[in-house]
Amino acid sequence: MQTKKGIPVSPGIAIAPAMVLDGEDQPIPRRTVAPTQVPHELQRLDDALAASSAEVQELKDKTTARVGPELAAIFGFHLGMLADKSLVGEIRSAIENQRVTAEFAVYSVLKAMGKKFLQAESRYMRERVSDVWDLERRILRHLIGKARDELAHLDHNAVVIAHDLTPSQTASLDRSKIKGIATDAGGLTSHTAILAHALGIPAIVGLEDITGQVNTGDMVVIDGQRGVVTIDPDAGQLMQSRKEADRMVALGDLLGEIRDLPAETKDGTEINLQANIEFPNEIGQALNNGAKGIGLYRTEFLYLASKTEPTEEEQYQTYLEAINNLDGKPLTVRTLDLGADKMDKRHNTGNDSSERNPFLGCRSIRLCLQNLPMFKTQLRAILRASTAGPVRIMFPLISNIMELLQSKMILGDVMEDLEDQGIAYGENIPVGIMVEVPSVAIQAKTFCREVDFMSIGTNDLIQYTVAVDRGNERIASLYSGAHPAVIMLIRDVVRAADKAGVDVSLCGEMASVPEYTMLLMGLGLRSLSITPPALPEVKQIIRAVSIDQCRRVARKATTFDSDREVANYLRDQLSKAIPGVFDGRSIGY
Ligand code: PEP
Ligand code: MG
Repeated sequence: MQTKKGIPVSPGIAIAPAMVLDGEDQPIPRRTVAPTQVPHELQRLDDALAASSAEVQELKDKTTARVGPELAAIFGFHLGMLADKSLVGEIRSAIENQRVTAEFAVYSVLKAMGKKFLQAESRYMRERVSDVWDLERRILRHLIGKARDELAHLDHNAVVIAHDLTPSQTASLDRSKIKGIATDAGGLTSHTAILAHALGIPAIVGLEDITGQVNTGDMVVIDGQRGVVTIDPDAGQLMQSRKEADRMVALGDLLGEIRDLPAETKDGTEINLQANIEFPNEIGQALNNGAKGIGLYRTEFLYLASKTEPTEEEQYQTYLEAINNLDGKPLTVRTLDLGADKMDKRHNTGNDSSERNPFLGCRSIRLCLQNLPMFKTQLRAILRASTAGPVRIMFPLISNIMELLQSKMILGDVMEDLEDQGIAYGENIPVGIMVEVPSVAIQAKTFCREVDFMSIGTNDLIQYTVAVDRGNERIASLYSGAHPAVIMLIRDVVRAADKAGVDVSLCGEMASVPEYTMLLMGLGLRSLSITPPALPEVKQIIRAVSIDQCRRVARKATTFDSDREVANYLRDQLSKAIPGVFDGRSIGY
């Protein structure tokens, strides 16, 4: 039995055999398989070699047609290696004799081969090493891609162990089979973490080298409360984890009872509790958990989940489904927030790993403003759907007033086009922005003149305020919503919005973390948008406190110099307000 501690991002206990996924760009750890799995690994190898050969042959044919056979000859070298009996024999024998995974066999044999090439006398041979690496990546891509595809068709429960998962990979996991997630990389508000939480899958990120410690098939316990992974648990540990899992189900039932009660403080102040979603099918759970509407619909997941760019009609149907699912409750549609860790190479906008600084790069509204046809298509679809129910349009990552004015102008153009074409859209659609860049928080008063509403996106606001990448596990301890500078920015935005009579909400993950509920209410927020599973717990806190109490907490919290003091104080205040609230929990930041 072995345990590893990481960053807990989605509560719950998962007990299941591991399914380990390697990453093409990561060193492949030496992992063994059971003797009965050896034929399966050999078959996987054969499939990956065949797929690689077909791919290289196609490349060779295309290159020959385009630039002639001389330049295409290089692919002949790749094909030669793929058909080389002694090379393939060496990889096969590693699987058969050492019982390693196909990935490790390919990785280790081709690495050794590359090293030999590098030491060769002949310059020609030394230069061929890049072809060896190229081939290695190609075969690994097929092996790993296949393993990821297999995840969607598992016939048994499993816990996914991976270096990292992209948001679209996380979104496509089969929730009935995947019981938990543990990754080497990631931070508390990385999009994979947010999605795992929204999907209700217990998850731990930032474990650094969990992929090197676990073999596929090993029994694993994920404790998404404490952030602990147990590998090969003994009987005692298993029993304790099962008891804990039962206790959490019972707690969930208890919280379920407050679902239909108002989100109202003891002294009668109502808080507008809404939910964050990525897909319309999450709306059912959000409403069941008591949401009064959707405060953040992350529409980019529609793009991330499909292989081609969704058409206007597909988007229209999806937004319509969301509006209909809400049955008259409001829907805040955020326009595309692609880029950074929500990568999408299809749009060829440079938002892939080749962008030097993706979080400061061409993401979100910047990307939309550089891709007007894509932006306008989305706006048309939202507007058309808006005849079916109350919709608000929200622009993400605004950092400059000109961007907002330009975005509003484009929205106006799209409205005019629709009018010219005699196509209806909703009347008086409120238009707002995410406040997630410090420049906008500081200039909140100016922005209030141009918007109907604002929603504070603390996930990004924190990272840009304290210069800490929200997905980087190595600096995760520096990423904190309790940082005094972050609290001051929230306070100032709420004040500016209140003064201007602009509706203000907070939809970052901070709103879903119970430690912050009293602080946020004390800072003046009366509207929060939360990940659906966290709604009952936050409502429980709202109902247990008074606004005066929250104001006192906020006043005191703004006197501390460090995030640690603020965090300790908030935990302390919450456990005084609701004794026992932290039993078995360490989630929060
Ligand atoms: C945020 O930044 O706080 C936010 C809600 O947006 P996202 O997490 O999608 O970046
Ligand atoms: Mg954001």
